[in-house]
Amino acid sequence: MTKETILITGANGQIGLVLTEALRQKHGRDAVIATDINGVVTEERGPFEILDVLDANRMAELVQKYEVTQIYHLAAILSARGEQNPKWAWEVNIGSLFNVLETAKNFGLRVFYPSTIAVFGANTPKDLTPQETVTEPTTVYGISKAAGENWCQYYFEKYGVDVRSVRYPGIIGYQSLPGGGTTDYAVEIFHRAVHGENYTCFLAPETSLPMLYMDDAIRGTLDLMSAPLESLTVHTSYNLAGVSFSPLELVVAIQTHLPDFKVDYAPDFRQNIAESWPRSIDDSVARRDWVWHPHYDLKAMTADMIQQLQKKLAAV
Ligand code: NAD
Repeated sequence: MTKETILITGANGQIGLVLTEALRQKHGRDAVIATDINGVVTEERGPFEILDVLDANRMAELVQKYEVTQIYHLAAILSARGEQNPKWAWEVNIGSLFNVLETAKNFGLRVFYPSTIAVFGANTPKDLTPQETVTEPTTVYGISKAAGENWCQYYFEKYGVDVRSVRYPGIIGYQSLPGGGTTDYAVEIFHRAVHGENYTCFLAPETSLPMLYMDDAIRGTLDLMSAPLESLTVHTSYNLAGVSFSPLELVVAIQTHLPDFKVDYAPDFRQNIAESWPRSIDDSVARRDWVWHPHYDLKAMTADMIQQLQKKLAAV
């Protein structure tokens, strides 16, 4: 295995916290430079640097300082937060991607770029959404990620930058909290359930959305980043599927472990966003190209989430 040095942007976020640990397990503690716009700088768990992804000079400086070979560009403004301030979300999401792609071009880096099911819209087929299909997103987040995917392909074709990308569905994990997306309910609900509290869900009970357990998301990401470039046929972003369920189905699954758990529903602006997204995803191209397959279904995910959160609670 060639020695890699990895810089992660947005490393303090829901996925970043878990991905940083997984990459440190794989490549060694000092081979992974965690960065974020803020956060306490402790080097206890490994190198950490403050980096605003809109600061291209600092990004290049850190790449040179640590002799970075790969960037995982996680920093972004997600769907629900983006709708509160669309111009800012566009500037952060696209401005930062340009900085990453230019840095990758200048220093010969491999890039991981997470896209999202939010690139799809009302005119996209909602069931088993194909790899190649209509992308007419309804949120600034989706618009920025759809444009971002195309910029990734552009840099691959024009400049040979090795950029790899997946369209994550909603990510569910016990390790960290979500940062302002439309699928956040599916994490929050578990925290309430294990604390013995009721939950008010911001989506309607029947709203089915594609989701993915964190362990599957991390494993898929690492597998894509180590796949031979020749086997990859998609240079925009790969569809990735785990499990699709509605809030109601999730509540029933949680109640098999915690029968007293109660939920009521108060859909807000996120309901409209959710209704513009697919219900399920066809990820057969990812399965073929880099042998992707998820391990967790709704039952396995629910059992593990509850067990891990109860363990955490007991340790407090
Ligand atoms: P998050 O909101 O939890 O974390 C984002 C991180 O980016 C935060 O730590 C934040 O401080 C940082 N950040 C924001 N602006 C920054 C800036 N200017 N400079 C540096 N850092 C900045 O997000 P997440 O859920 O961990 O998502 C990570 C990536 O995965 C994002 O690109 C997101 O679009 C994508 N994604 C996530 C999900 C999901 O369900 N979590 C689904 C699809 C795609």
